[in-house]
Amino acid sequence: MKARYRYRFYPTVGQQQKLAQLFGCVRVVWNDALALCKQSQKLPSNGELQKRCITQAKKLEGRSWLKDVSVVPLQQSVADLGVAYKNFFDSLKGKRKGRKVNLPKFKKRTSRQSARLTQRGFRVKNNGKVYLAKIGDVKPIWSRELPAIPSSVTIIKDCEGRYFLSFVVEINPQQRPNNNKSIGVDLGITDFATTSNGEKYKAPKPLKRRLKRLRKLQRNLARKTKGSRRREKAKKRVAKLHAKVKDTRADFLHKLSTKIIRENQTIVLEDLNVSGMVKNRKLSRAISDLGWRDFRTMLETKSVMYGREFKVISRWEPTSQTCSCCGFRGGKKELGIREWTCLNCGAVHDRDINAAINILVAGGQSETQSAFPIGGNLRGVAPLNGRGGRHKTTTVAATCETSTQLEPVQLSLFG
Ligand SMILES: [Zn+2]
Repeated sequence: MKARYRYRFYPTVGQQQKLAQLFGCVRVVWNDALALCKQSQKLPSNGELQKRCITQAKKLEGRSWLKDVSVVPLQQSVADLGVAYKNFFDSLKGKRKGRKVNLPKFKKRTSRQSARLTQRGFRVKNNGKVYLAKIGDVKPIWSRELPAIPSSVTIIKDCEGRYFLSFVVEINPQQRPNNNKSIGVDLGITDFATTSNGEKYKAPKPLKRRLKRLRKLQRNLARKTKGSRRREKAKKRVAKLHAKVKDTRADFLHKLSTKIIRENQTIVLEDLNVSGMVKNRKLSRAISDLGWRDFRTMLETKSVMYGREFKVISRWEPTSQTCSCCGFRGGKKELGIREWTCLNCGAVHDRDINAAINILVAGGQSETQSAFPIGGNLRGVAPLNGRGGRHKTTTVAATCETSTQLEPVQLSLFG
């Protein structure tokens, strides 16, 4: 499977200028190609777009500066646009799993910038430096080793002005020893995660802590004249705060998901209607601040990497209403009720732990009822797509290179 490895680097002033030029060219080619696609009745081919937006454009007066940068990232920009369109159409036809994909958009000078180089455009040297075509050598901070020779690299400048190299590397999933343990995970607002073995994890809620400061910065930004230098600076301060929030959240999610994957062979999660819940205005910020969706993606990816089984049970499963001891259904419970007593067997339940156990059971039942001829517990033997029974469970494939390329490294795979 493919994974991304991301490293920060600090370009020299000269390199920063060259990178700005490169990002600009990549952006212009993307925007020109996108405009062309929007005008055309039938989507032009990759070759056609390359010819018109790169080769022929170089001869035009207003685009002659395209000659000054390496052609590799420009070709990639056109190719990426093709992938973006494919993802959009696949999503439209229901061929693509996950969130709905929108039409590709025009890129702005003020947002995150990136350029992708394939093997022709870069080289990782023995002395720890990385050669980038027409940019020169840069020295990333090797926070961990690259496991193999990368097939491509994306140069990123984020909104805060930080530079990163994000390598795509082919890795072999490591088969961790099967310890036959399984776990159900209930996601919530008070406690981020509650597991079926009774552990609770609090989320850092990084945005909530900084809300006051964020509001102040945003007010400050709104007062600045458009296009002024002070506005640019104010904007950067807001971006910096958001970056800090994102990093804190990602760090927590990575650590927790890695811990869960390390310790368990089967992981069962409830399929929450996150996008629906975010529409509830009272809850939306709190939920977005938690990062449920990212957490699920991390569990999915890491379970493939470590040969674990990851299951998602239907959101219609009455996990918080059913007694995990006797199976009695006690009816709907208000969110405020944290503890309840079963009317049938008298067991006292912590709401979340009870739900987590039910999630685990719902995930497990679909296993024993699956279509495999051998009876008993098939945990660990059942293939990744094993399913069946009356409980709807889905297992999800790893994110592949093409699906992550266009919005690269929201999550780099390892913490
Ligand atoms: Zn009971």
